[in-house]
Amino acid sequence: MTEPLWEDEDRPRVAAMGPVKVRVPAKINLHLGVGPTRADGYHKVATIYHAIGIYDELTGRPADSLALTMDGEGAGELALDNSNLVIKAVMALAAATGRKPHARLHLRKQIPLAAGLAGGSADAAATLVACDALWGTGFSREDLANVAAGLGSDVPFLVLGGTALGTGRGEAVSPVLAPGHAWHWVVALADGRLSTPEVYRELDRLRDVGQAPGSIGSPDEILAALRQRDPTVLAKSLGNDLEPAAIVLHPGLRATLDAGVAAGALAGLVSGSGPTCVFLCRDAAHASAVATELGEHGVGRAVRATHGPVPGARLI
Ligand code: C5P
Repeated sequence: MTEPLWEDEDRPRVAAMGPVKVRVPAKINLHLGVGPTRADGYHKVATIYHAIGIYDELTGRPADSLALTMDGEGAGELALDNSNLVIKAVMALAAATGRKPHARLHLRKQIPLAAGLAGGSADAAATLVACDALWGTGFSREDLANVAAGLGSDVPFLVLGGTALGTGRGEAVSPVLAPGHAWHWVVALADGRLSTPEVYRELDRLRDVGQAPGSIGSPDEILAALRQRDPTVLAKSLGNDLEPAAIVLHPGLRATLDAGVAAGALAGLVSGSGPTCVFLCRDAAHASAVATELGEHGVGRAVRATHGPVPGARLI
C-alpha cells in the first residue's frame, strides 16, 4: 500500500513554536501531451504527474527576518536571493495571508537542478507548507494550491503529490483515483541541464518545420492503464511530447534511453523537459537490477531505483 495523501485535517492551525521540517518529492510525468501556445505564452498541456521517492527537505524556524541557507545539490550555484523560488514562495504566502515574510529556512537538496524533476517547484511547495505551519495561517489546501499556481505550473502538484492529472498549463490538478499500488522506476540523472522554456521553444520549432512526431494526445489510455496495476500495460502508455525536443538539445539522451531498455526496463522516457530519463520496471528487485546494470554502463552521473506514488510536501 502507498501512504495516504496529505489531508487538510493533518494541518496545524496554530503557529509552530519550534522548527518545522517538510519533506517534498521529485515528480516525473508519465504522460505529457503538449498543445498549442496560449495567449499568455504558456502551452496548453494534459499531463499525468507522478511523485517519486527522491526528496528535498526544508527546515523552517520562527525568526524576525527572512534568511535562506542550503546544502546538497546545487549548493554554491543556486542563488539564495529573490530569484530563488523558496524566497518567492515566502513572499507570495506572506502577501496572501497578510503575514510578515519572516522565517529562517534551510534547504537540503537531493533533487538535481534543471533536470526535469521539478526540484525548484518542489522547494516552493515545501516552503508554502513550512511557512503555513510556522505562521499558523489556517489556509485550506485549496488556498495553498492557489498561491502555488502563481509560483509555477508544477507547484500545485508538488503540494498534492501522488499521481494526478494536470491540465491548463499544468497547474490545475486532480488526483488520479488509482488503487493503492507502487510502481517501480529507475531514474538516470544525466550530465548537464536543460532549460524548460528552451525545450518548449524547440518543440515549437520542430512542429513549425514539420519535424515533430504527432502529439501523444489525450491521457485516456494511460488513465485506464494505471487502473490495471500491470507494469507491462503501463509501459505501452507512457509518452512525452517534449522528448524529441529534449533529445535534439541533448543528443546523449537517445543512448541513455536505449541503454535502459537494453538493461531490461519495460520502457523508458525523458522526464518532463529532461534531461533525466526514467525507466519503468516490474518490481523493486527488477528496478534494482536495471539500476545496477545501467550504473555499470556509465550513463549520466547517477542512477537510482525508486518508486511512486508518494505524498506531496508534508511535515515530517
Ligand atoms: O510555470 P513555470 O514557471 O514552471 O514554467 C517555466 C517555463 O516553461 C515557462 O516560462 C514556459 O516557457 C514553459 N512552459 C510552457 N507551458 C507550460 C509550462 C511551462 O510553455 N504549460
